[in-house]
Amino acid sequence: MIAKNQVFEIEITGQTHEGLGVGRVDGMAVFVQGAIAGEKVVAKIIKVLKNYAVARIESFIEKSPDRTEPFCPVYKRCGGCNLQHMTYERTLQFKRQVVIDNLERIGGLEGIHVEPVIGMETPRRYRNKAQYPVGMGDNGPIAGFFAPRSHEIIQTEECGIQHPTSDLAKNTVLEFIRANRIPVYDELTHKGLIRHVVVKVGFATGEVMVILVSTSSIIPKKDKLVSLLKERIPGLASIVVNVNDKTGNVILGSKNITLYGKDTIEDKLGDLFFEISPLSFYQINPEQTLVLYNKAVEYAGLTGKETVFDLYCGIGTISLFAAGKAKKVIGVESVPEAVEAARRNAERNRINHAEFYCGNAEDVVPELYRQGMKADVVIVDPPRKGCDEVLLKTLIEMAPQRIVYVSCNPSTLARDMKVLHGSGYEPQKVQPVDMFPWTNHVECVVLITRL
Ligand code: SAH
Repeated sequence: MIAKNQVFEIEITGQTHEGLGVGRVDGMAVFVQGAIAGEKVVAKIIKVLKNYAVARIESFIEKSPDRTEPFCPVYKRCGGCNLQHMTYERTLQFKRQVVIDNLERIGGLEGIHVEPVIGMETPRRYRNKAQYPVGMGDNGPIAGFFAPRSHEIIQTEECGIQHPTSDLAKNTVLEFIRANRIPVYDELTHKGLIRHVVVKVGFATGEVMVILVSTSSIIPKKDKLVSLLKERIPGLASIVVNVNDKTGNVILGSKNITLYGKDTIEDKLGDLFFEISPLSFYQINPEQTLVLYNKAVEYAGLTGKETVFDLYCGIGTISLFAAGKAKKVIGVESVPEAVEAARRNAERNRINHAEFYCGNAEDVVPELYRQGMKADVVIVDPPRKGCDEVLLKTLIEMAPQRIVYVSCNPSTLARDMKVLHGSGYEPQKVQPVDMFPWTNHVECVVLITRL
């Protein structure tokens, strides 16, 4: 029997999909934080559960050649990144293996070929959206990131994966909060005002939006905040107060009040402009988004004659990328504000053969199909839970030649692939793209064709 605080020599033989090292003690699986497959470590058991135990490294007997010093000083405490102890090259190999494992085990696609992950040239400062929780520390208000599986705020001046302007805006808001004794939110008592600072940066345009998430629309001394941010933040185009007076983990509320500048900012991807608002979804790594979208359009194999469905289209980004090479594009999205933004984006980019429908893809697509509308190519980019089965059934009936599946979750991708594969569709190409360096997240584009 393994017990807490015991120390063992453990050979790390595998890696969980979250990036923990896996070894065995007395036949029981032990997950070792920060260990890499191939290493031999001395580790202390910190938790014992029914089927597995969790351990922490005390010392190394054999280190992996792929072990490297994390570039972030708070890496061990912060819940943001979890692969910084590996070389970047190794993280890409790890992510590719996660995709293969899922497609083989859940998807039943034994021996499937998965392309090497397309990584970033410089995997730093890649995020265009930062969400910093604000709270009370030992010496006054702090802002940073939550520790893993916790709401303890780890204070950080700088974060190596955020845009430098995001850090600057957060530090400036924090300075304002401290200097003016603005009450910060307390999750336990549900008292106080400022909950989060959210910053969005248009990488190509340089436009910056600073969002203060607050329990009330009234921010004391807000003029001081506006002038401080104007003075410090290059590219500042918008300051918004987002009101969230609900308890729980959802960061943004539904009400926005613009304190300064515009209600939205703009970014440019490739040759296209997109409107970014406080609530709308926009891919967080613009450099890799371009790679991802170009891959998706390449896999769509468009010649100019096709009708394309872009399902889960958000603000119409992929739709408008595909529109240049298609006869017609139909985007479907469940969030009304996103659909309105998609229509404005089409207009802004002078694209008039893209139409957008608001509703769940599993409701809208069967309805369009009943009305006689068909797609030659379907692109899907669902949230983590994957596609609804009703949607997959409709697609199988509609029988488009190609389906391009963009996925942020290999396990639901694999589940949906299994359904499609059993109904006459064959995966041709699987291309992972590293959208979230140093985290265990992996994005994939898959080309699926009808036999
Ligand atoms: N393709 C877009 C958005 C991808 S995120 C981009 O690259 O930016 C997934 C999107 O699916 C979100 O905008 C979300 O609001 C939307 N969504 C979630 N469930 C949906 C459903 N059942 N039907 C249609 N859209 C849905």
